[in-house]
Amino acid sequence: MSIEPLTDLSRLCIHTITTKPWGIEDAARHYSSAGVKGITVWRDALDGRNIRQTGEMLRNSGLSVVSLARGGFFPNTDAVKRQAALDDNRKAIDEAYELGTDKIVLVCGADPGLTLEESRKHIYEGISAIIPEATAAGVKLAIEPLHPMYADTRSAINTLSQANDMAEKLDSRAVGVAVDVYHLWWDPDLEKEIARCGRNNNLLAFHVCDWKSPTVDMLNDRGLMGEGCIPVKQIRGLVEASGFSGYNEVEIFSSIYWKTDQKEYLEKIVNAYLNHT
Ligand code: ZN
Repeated sequence: MSIEPLTDLSRLCIHTITTKPWGIEDAARHYSSAGVKGITVWRDALDGRNIRQTGEMLRNSGLSVVSLARGGFFPNTDAVKRQAALDDNRKAIDEAYELGTDKIVLVCGADPGLTLEESRKHIYEGISAIIPEATAAGVKLAIEPLHPMYADTRSAINTLSQANDMAEKLDSRAVGVAVDVYHLWWDPDLEKEIARCGRNNNLLAFHVCDWKSPTVDMLNDRGLMGEGCIPVKQIRGLVEASGFSGYNEVEIFSSIYWKTDQKEYLEKIVNAYLNHT
C-alpha cells in the first residue's frame, strides 16, 4: 500500500495536553501562527473560563475545535460514584456544546474491584444513559480503546475489536470509536478492525504519537512521531483506506517535553508531523 506523504498542515490537530504548560490562549496563538488547523481541548484547559467565549476565541484564531477530552470513567463499585460519573459526563456534553465541538473522547474507565466484564457492563450502561443528551447536543461520543497496561483503572476497553463491539451494540449515531496509535499499534487485528469501524462509519478520531523504547513511565513518556517503534504512517494509511478524512491529532503526554521550551517543541511537533506521520 502506498501512503501519500503529508505535505501540509491542513489536517494537523494538537491536543492542549501536549503543550500543557501553555494556557489555552497561548496554545491558540502559537498553534495558529505555526499553521496548525485544529485543536482538541482538554477540560482542565477550560477551568474557570467562559466556555462559549473560549470556543469563539479558538475559531477566531483560525482553529477548528476538533473535540473535547475527555468523558468516561463509568465503572465503579460504588453506585453513588457511578451516578457522579454520569453527571460529569452530562456536564462534559454541555461543555462540548458550549465550546462548539461535535465530539467527546471517552476514556471509558475500569474499577480494579470489578472484573473487566463487569467494568464493561458499567461502561455500556453509562454510555447508554448519556446518549439522549449527546444526541440532543449534536455531540458524538468516541470510545477510545486504551492499551491493556491501563486495564486496571483507566479502561476495560483495550482493543479496537472491543470498542467496535461496544459501539455496534450501542447502535447509536451518537457513538463511535477513536483510534490512538499508542494504544493499538501492537494489535494483530488492527487492520481488520480499522476497516470494520470505517465500514460502519464509526471511526471518529485518529490520535498520533510514538512508543519510546524503553518507555520509562506508563503515562507520561510518550514520544514524538518517529521517536519510537510505532509504524505511524502505516496506521494512518489504514485509517485513510477505511474512509477517514478527519484530523491527525497529536496527543503526547511527556514530562520530558513539558519541561522544555514549548515554542521549540511545537516546531518539533510540526516537523515530526510532516516527516514521520
Ligand atoms: Zn488518544
